[in-house]
Amino acid sequence: MYAKRISSLPPYLFAEIDERKREARKKGIDVIDLSIGDPDLPTPPHVVEAVCNAAKDPSNHRYPSYDGMLTFRKAVAAWYKRKKHVSLDAEDEVLTLIGSKEGIAHSAFAFLNHGDVALIPDPAYPVYGNATILANGIPHLVPLTEENEFKPNLESIDKEVTRKAKIMFLNYPNNPTAATVEKSFFKEIVDFAREHDIIILHDNPYSELTFDGYEAPSFMAVDGAKEAGIEFNSLSKTYNMTGWRIGFAVGNPEILKGLRLVKTNVDSGAFQAVQIAGIAALTGPQGGIKTNVETYRERRDILIDGLRSAGMEVRKPRATFYLWVEVPSTFSSIRFSMFLLERTGVVVTPGVGFGENGEGFVRFSLCVNAERIKEACERLKLFM
Ligand SMILES: *Cc1c(COP(=O)(O)O)cnc(C)c1O
Repeated sequence: MYAKRISSLPPYLFAEIDERKREARKKGIDVIDLSIGDPDLPTPPHVVEAVCNAAKDPSNHRYPSYDGMLTFRKAVAAWYKRKKHVSLDAEDEVLTLIGSKEGIAHSAFAFLNHGDVALIPDPAYPVYGNATILANGIPHLVPLTEENEFKPNLESIDKEVTRKAKIMFLNYPNNPTAATVEKSFFKEIVDFAREHDIIILHDNPYSELTFDGYEAPSFMAVDGAKEAGIEFNSLSKTYNMTGWRIGFAVGNPEILKGLRLVKTNVDSGAFQAVQIAGIAALTGPQGGIKTNVETYRERRDILIDGLRSAGMEVRKPRATFYLWVEVPSTFSSIRFSMFLLERTGVVVTPGVGFGENGEGFVRFSLCVNAERIKEACERLKLFM
């Protein structure tokens, strides 16, 4: 019944975990879910206020424009200038998205012909590889290893593959490994993209969730980046707006035009009331970001202490709301996750769900409150 592209998708591991979670809850186990990457903190009140007002205005009830409201794109450009020191032309270097996931997935359709190669980090956010498959492209996995600080080793990619590759997805600060990079890394990427004529699609939704003085660079802040690619960003993680579905892509106008062409045939843009709320988020008081960062930092430190006293090794990440933790060598990541859930009620994501090179790790997320994280740590100590 289904198209081949559907059956070519890898099995959705996370559905299996959801099922196990449900079973555990049915058995009366008090589940602490550290597997979800979805902020538990509320959207700032002035943003909620803005959407309520905008929803009452009938002029917002009609189809939005394909590029997104110019006022929203101008707010994005001003935000990038302020936060990332990047100049963007709101007219043709910013595109509104219905969440960045939408733009990421549609990019594969904009740039891949049947059989074209996309370079996909492994482990990674599953959308890069799966959208490639849906677009009949070929994902070529580029390992992110601990030895290389979870960055791709560009030299090690097969020469024939680099010659054929059309696009490359990247994501720093990284989900799931929480790895971060400096601007010099993006410079190498720009050189690589130029040499091999590869479009870079950098995904940067955690750009503002950074700790201990670290600032996440924008890919666009590097000389030549605007010739080499685009960057996705989102209000989801920065302003606790995952449910609102609002994000954007910035950078090379020609590349954005390709993505826009796909979008005009698939969706009709983001609800204007949501874009107006987005403007309120981007241009209004920014104190909520600081609160978020402070909250995640506290949770991070509690969980790291807990994991260490349970005898597990863990690095302290400088960004994101994840910890990427090595599992005891006698376990696979799936067996460890299942065992942990059965014995302690704590749910984590097995690393292999993000790709083969995620094997040997699990991802803890910090989207539950400090009390629950402390409780999870107590249980882990008993279990280990
Ligand atoms: C959360 C997340 C996204 C999706 O963000 P939306 O804007 O909500 O679609 C994209 N990429 C990565 C790596 C994420 O973790």
